[in-house]
Amino acid sequence: MNLLQEKLSKYTAPQEAQAAGVYPYFRAISSEQDPEVIMNGKKVLMFGSNCYTGLVNDPRIKEAAIAATRKYGTGCAGSPFLNGTLDIHKELEAKLAEYTGKEDVMVYSTGFEVNLGVVSTLTGREDYILWDEQDHASIIEGHRLSFSQKLKYRHNDMESLEKQLKKCDPDKVKLIVSDSVFSMEGDVANVKEIVRLAKQYNASVMIDEAHGIGVFGPGGRGVCHEQGVADDVDLIMGTFSKSFASLGGFIATNKEITNFLRHHSRSYIFTASITPASTAAALKALEIMQAEPERQENLWKLTNHALDGFRQAGFEIGNTSTPIIPLFIRDDFKTFAITRDLLDEGIFVNPVVSPAVAPTDTLIRFSLMATHSVEQVDRALETITRTFKKHGVLK
Ligand code: PMP
Repeated sequence: MNLLQEKLSKYTAPQEAQAAGVYPYFRAISSEQDPEVIMNGKKVLMFGSNCYTGLVNDPRIKEAAIAATRKYGTGCAGSPFLNGTLDIHKELEAKLAEYTGKEDVMVYSTGFEVNLGVVSTLTGREDYILWDEQDHASIIEGHRLSFSQKLKYRHNDMESLEKQLKKCDPDKVKLIVSDSVFSMEGDVANVKEIVRLAKQYNASVMIDEAHGIGVFGPGGRGVCHEQGVADDVDLIMGTFSKSFASLGGFIATNKEITNFLRHHSRSYIFTASITPASTAAALKALEIMQAEPERQENLWKLTNHALDGFRQAGFEIGNTSTPIIPLFIRDDFKTFAITRDLLDEGIFVNPVVSPAVAPTDTLIRFSLMATHSVEQVDRALETITRTFKKHGVLK
């Protein structure tokens, strides 16, 4: 056995979970992605999707994707920098600029690549990146690739952020980066206060709205708009893989920043641009999100109903106030076993363990779509309550 194989042969955690019959990942769906999906030939209620708008199976978006494939083909075969820019990429960027209220937008191939390629590129050796300890992995990868100094602040703790800002050289660039809605625990960043501190210490702000867009603000514009500070946030990041029912991501900011990123951001330049189908799907989703506010209203009705239900039943759900509801278990094996039992009962939820959360914060992530019904949420509440009781997590 060579050294690499010898080393990897010691990594047996997945096999151990499989042997115990609780391995919870890569469970295949064989149907349309509605609130109800088919898995192993059985109907399952989907409470693990990130498509908060529920647009992922919308016939108008499917048609737009099919029409774009007919017109432009199945791929772009190149970087946006060279042969991979289509007129619909430019149209999408212009419409997103208008939507976010920013001067310019760049579309990347995924949201992960946005964070990787923006965070790593904007700050240099003597500059600073200040980041929330619960920021998404793609932000963390972005600053790992950066040569700048990195200062972590305690989760959503503005005193901790200020303490870190005080450590910085006042003459050097400072970039504060935070999720708007934290992806695993569903709590909301205090963007207003981040912006106030940024002004006080002459720092720039980048907010990842992956889970905010489609959920918060007028027309689903996100938390920055909801909190009335979008103009003061220098960079707004979004992804098409959640509320937009597609694939890809974007950064919305001013023209000086996009001019620099278009010519330096390696995850933008050295990868192929998003497919015609993904581009057209995102364009159509953007149109629908603004034209149909009732989707957002329904999402909030369901969210408040589920939050009340879980709280009343005695679940520990942290500080969430969003369609992302963490059900804390704090034990990996129980989290996997409950996930398996829920699937047997026809409820799909996501198990979340380290490194997505701290090892002591293991949880089941329950998430809502605007297209769920109250009856489906009630069925899930009843089944999850019964299953948590069976495993001794709930009294
Ligand atoms: N940021 C956050 C907060 C996310 O949750 C995710 C996806 N899980 C991303 C960025 C990456 O987005 P994408 O799926 O488009 O790569």
